[in-house]
Amino acid sequence: MEIALIVPGARSVVSKILTCAGLAVAVLFAVAACSDTERGAMVSTANPHASEAAIEILEKGGSAVDAAIAAQMVLTLVEPQSSGIGGGAFLMHWDAGERKVGAYDGREKAPAAARPDLFLQADGTPMAFIDAVVGGRAVGVPGVIAMLWQAHRDHGKLKWSELFAPAIRLAESGFKVSPRLNGMITQFNALSMHPSTRDYFYIDSIEVAGALEPLPVGYLRTNSAYAETLRSIAADGPAGFYEGKTAQAIVAAVRDHERNPGLMTLDDLKAYEARRRAALCRPYRDYRICGMPPPTSGGLTSLMILGMLEHFDLSGLRPGSPMAVHLISEASKLAYADRAIYMADSDFFDVPVTQLLSPGYLRSRAGEIHPGQSMGKAKPGELNSTGDPKHAADESHGRLSTSHFSVVDGKGNAVSMTTSVEGPFGAHVMAAGFILNNQLTDFSFQPEINGKPVANAVAPGKRPRSSMSPTIVLDDDGAFYAAVGSPGGSRIIAYVTQTLIGLIDWELGMQGAIDLPRHVNRNGPIELEDQTDLPGRSADLEKLGHKVDVKTLVSGLHGIRVDGLELDGGADRRREGVVLTTRRGQ
Ligand code: GLU
Repeated sequence: MEIALIVPGARSVVSKILTCAGLAVAVLFAVAACSDTERGAMVSTANPHASEAAIEILEKGGSAVDAAIAAQMVLTLVEPQSSGIGGGAFLMHWDAGERKVGAYDGREKAPAAARPDLFLQADGTPMAFIDAVVGGRAVGVPGVIAMLWQAHRDHGKLKWSELFAPAIRLAESGFKVSPRLNGMITQFNALSMHPSTRDYFYIDSIEVAGALEPLPVGYLRTNSAYAETLRSIAADGPAGFYEGKTAQAIVAAVRDHERNPGLMTLDDLKAYEARRRAALCRPYRDYRICGMPPPTSGGLTSLMILGMLEHFDLSGLRPGSPMAVHLISEASKLAYADRAIYMADSDFFDVPVTQLLSPGYLRSRAGEIHPGQSMGKAKPGELNSTGDPKHAADESHGRLSTSHFSVVDGKGNAVSMTTSVEGPFGAHVMAAGFILNNQLTDFSFQPEINGKPVANAVAPGKRPRSSMSPTIVLDDDGAFYAAVGSPGGSRIIAYVTQTLIGLIDWELGMQGAIDLPRHVNRNGPIELEDQTDLPGRSADLEKLGHKVDVKTLVSGLHGIRVDGLELDGGADRRREGVVLTTRRGQ
């Protein structure tokens, strides 16, 4: 029996032959049904190499967490603009045996020497964003390896060391530079500013017409430094990363950066700990949505939007119709307004999670939505008796990078993991064969605005507020229904929420929900995805009082859903991802 299903990547549809119980069936999309008892295993990631690595591990009998580790190690290599072991991540886990959702926090932390003025200039004004990004200053203590180690101790099946084999092999034999990676190198030419990235991302440092030539599409890129790093992590566990040679290379790259050195020390690395957190689960229609709690604002904001929309009948509206876009936008504005004031690292700031998600509060917020007229800019809700929020709205930046992948193993366990180096290519600095993050720019640059403190200000050991929203959905029996998430900076919340609505209210299936034309409202204009039919609704939306901004919106949703006896996967055509399945029963 052999099944190899591929869902479209890069706007192409690939079909393979499915052979099951003696039947040969041509399949265009990732939907398969064979056995009454098992659904097989499936993975959806942003890159074919990463999906293949995960499948290799699943076929050896690995768990969803095992496959996730193999996928992340490969993504570090083939999609260095988005995520990697030099960054941070959040992982949601469904334990099919225990019927429990778990949440793992591998978010980067500020070094012990970081202070609230980290991104302020001598005159007290915030630094220019790009000056903060490039160099050592914004590099947070990476969390991916510690988090995966913890998840593996809880849910791993194969030996830790086995999970690195696919990535080591690919780093040594080389991978072909993809169109997207080539495009990103071309676009982010600050990569040429540091020797570590200049030597890696450009051909022999050759200048063409006065500029360095980015690695072309199809170029075979090897990375022996990364292979060596992976070997030490495979052999020594987190100590192979947070101590010894790898740690020294990270600290040297951060502290010795000529123009913009950072503060991280060997002690910061050694002290890093990932956290198990309690998943935030709330009902939506007949389902239960489980999101990641702070330090990300993702789960909380998405649950707030859905909690407000529960008061409207979306299933009676067409996806993309002006009324559906209007209602989703208004609910989003209200939730993003609260996000700006009330959300940050809950180890440092008392995030009012219970109040923000209370049915009474969400009902009263939903009451501020008028079907016939936009409210304009939404104000944060009043959670205290004075009605005056004690904190100022945070205007932290957020750029387009990050990766999301979903895995379901043969036993029905699932992983939904969003992982990031923050901006494309993180801090634009490499150490030991991988990119270092610039995640600290997710903090507010200003610790105080108009005399009020900002919840998401920098502090030693604090995690910057994130928008990442890895999500697990349960059905009305409390069983696993879906895993999904996306990159996209603070738009992640909107992308994921819209996809959940597509799955639940409009029953579009995973690929259909991912394919929905994107619309986003972060408490400003409605952003409509260009080259879709949404911009054609602009006039109707303007009549409702909205400002409209048509633009390219690059979500990167990768999800898997249970559809009866089948698994139904989807990969975002806006990126390069694929869905693959294993042979049945593995
Ligand atoms: N650093 C962002 C966050 O954690 C994600 C960036 C992105 O998706 O591009 O929310």
